[in-house]
Amino acid sequence: MDDERITTPELTQQDDEIELSLRPKYLREYIGQEKAKENLAVFIAAARQRGEALDHVLLYGPPGLGKTTLAGIVANEMGVNFRVTSGPAIEKPGDLAALLTNLNEGDVLFIDEIHRLSRAVEEVLYPAMEDYVLDIIIGKGPSARSIRLDLPHFTLVGATTRAGQLSAPLRDRFGCIFRLELYTPAQLGLIVTRSAGILGIAADPDGALELASRSRGTPRIANRLLKRARDFAQVVGNGSITLQSAQTALRNMDIDELGLDLIDRRLLHVMITQYNGGPVGLETLAAAVGEESVTIEDVYEPYLMQIGFLGRTPRGRIATPMAYAHLGMRPPQAASIENEQLTIDSL
Ligand code: ADP
Repeated sequence: MDDERITTPELTQQDDEIELSLRPKYLREYIGQEKAKENLAVFIAAARQRGEALDHVLLYGPPGLGKTTLAGIVANEMGVNFRVTSGPAIEKPGDLAALLTNLNEGDVLFIDEIHRLSRAVEEVLYPAMEDYVLDIIIGKGPSARSIRLDLPHFTLVGATTRAGQLSAPLRDRFGCIFRLELYTPAQLGLIVTRSAGILGIAADPDGALELASRSRGTPRIANRLLKRARDFAQVVGNGSITLQSAQTALRNMDIDELGLDLIDRRLLHVMITQYNGGPVGLETLAAAVGEESVTIEDVYEPYLMQIGFLGRTPRGRIATPMAYAHLGMRPPQAASIENEQLTIDSL
């Protein structure tokens, strides 16, 4: 994927230091995701009262919605250490054993992209999650023997963009599972205003809402647009983000009024012009636009589906009449698209 893509919800290098300062540290600062927040508040309070570690938590949803942030908040609210790693970083069972044996009582271990753990590593994780023990095999062949080590009671917070790829035994070992949803423009407006306050950027409510409503429901993108809009406001305006300066900035970044960028529009355009609006298979579509199919599934589709531009049918992806209208094109046979729509609704 293009690293320079402004609207990528995935973390880029430029985001790093600023993200740290913008990350909410406590539940009360975390905007939106009410259901996850309310439940976590209760579970955290109960675990603290009992003086126990919190049950293991699985967070899933598209990138940039606040999974890592929420995991850090769990650790802060519990008053414990926060250790961060990711599925691909844990290559061997020994890597996981090293991480687990270095935890203190109650610590939160965050594993991002947990669906990418190897089977061998998962096997070590099961008894660790369930009974807080580590089974280690010493030696090889007939003389090999297994010893069992006790681990501190820790909380595993797993994050994934694809809950469907998690093995059933792993999923079953999480006591709480939360799906994070795309944010509404109003919630993102609050996030932009909060971030502007922290970064010392003047942004009026209309300007903040304009950035928010073009951020694909994703806080990470909202924060990134805020930083770019500040540059525009500084150079072409009076330094303050207004509706007008926000619009100028967005136009310059090729982000349209719905928050779609060039790649989103290319995706829809290819579906419409080369595949008659679909259905077109994911792999075919990925090859046609030169993106990985996982990127299309994780990054582009959630938002295009949410705004009703793209549908999934058993035979592939379709562009909806709204997508045609947005690109200023006419659906070829309205009837056949309606039939596909029926298939989606009846799924
Ligand atoms: P994920 O782990 O899901 O990819 P992150 O937790 O890294 O997403 O969130 C990306 C950025 O978005 C964070 O640095 C934070 O500044 C911001 N953010 C995410 N969720 C919220 C929220 N609910 N309220 C305020 N800011 C948020």
